[in-house]
Amino acid sequence: DNAADNQDSIHYYQNGEDEAHLDRLKMLDELKQAISDDDGQLFMTYQPKLHMQTKKINKVESLIRWQRKDGSWVNPELFIDLAEQSGLIVELTAWVVNTVVSQVADWQSKGIQMQAAINVSAQDIASPSFHSALVRTLKKYSVDPTLITIELTERDMIENEEKGIKALQNLKAIGVKISLDDYGVGQTSLGRLKMLPIDELKLDKCFILKLDESQKDQYIVQSSITLGHQLGFSVVAEGVETLDSLNLLEAMQCDHAQGYYLSRPLKAELLEQWLEEYYAKN
Ligand code: C2E
Ligand code: MG
Ligand code: MG
Ligand code: MG
Repeated sequence: DNAADNQDSIHYYQNGEDEAHLDRLKMLDELKQAISDDDGQLFMTYQPKLHMQTKKINKVESLIRWQRKDGSWVNPELFIDLAEQSGLIVELTAWVVNTVVSQVADWQSKGIQMQAAINVSAQDIASPSFHSALVRTLKKYSVDPTLITIELTERDMIENEEKGIKALQNLKAIGVKISLDDYGVGQTSLGRLKMLPIDELKLDKCFILKLDESQKDQYIVQSSITLGHQLGFSVVAEGVETLDSLNLLEAMQCDHAQGYYLSRPLKAELLEQWLEEYYAKN
């Protein structure tokens, strides 16, 4: 009986594995197609970042979305992971860069001065063509490099450290800004933090979501803001969901706040409407 049970569970398990494998292959294929067709399945959304001191919205983070042909949504973390594991991320990021830079140019032509952050992976930074492709795209749309921020997580920065740091320094040299995303949950030692060529620290949302209820989170966030400023970085909090948290961050002299309390990530046209409403009230 036991043996039969084992057989069954092994059989079931293997079937599950095969299915998951097939699903991933199918999804990867669809993702490739979605990038090359550029038929609207993939699109960018933009989440505003509030500059606390001036109450202006001068920055957004670009966040990718994928709605498949059958109408189903794929979680970005899932398909970004898939793209990273298959190497497709380089093509996907090229699509993202082109879309976001052209959007920034479009906003400029409408008199909306907006800086945009783009999330990239370790493989993008390691890729020798990333820098030249970004420069080419900025030229193509006549966008000032200082309007673009590259967001990288601690893990992405540390992978291939020496080469990665050199690549980031080269980006900084042409005016592109560098942000350390999800700060506080990765493995950046303070020694490394000191060495990284970054402009911005982005505090992970796990410290921000319950900021108004947690004394410990308040201690962590306050000391990170102070440390960030002393090291010469601008500090952003992601995951601001309540007015209380926003007020706390303002009192702690955090530079920018981003989160559902202000707005969810929006398509460009909706963001433009949101900005009009925001400035009508503020
Ligand atoms: P991330 O870069 O850390 O982005 C922040 C995530 O927090 C986003 O999730 C955003 O929608 C979400 N968020 C913003 N405000 C709040 C809030 O107040 N509360 C909560 N609970 N969540 C909030 P999203 O859009 O699902 O993206 C997840 C991750 O996928 C991103 O994390 C980033 O690592 C990756 N990603 C998204 N777009 C891209 C892209 O274009 N390229 C690459 N390489 N990665 C991307
Ligand atoms: Mg990010
Ligand atoms: Mg983040
Ligand atoms: Mg994240």
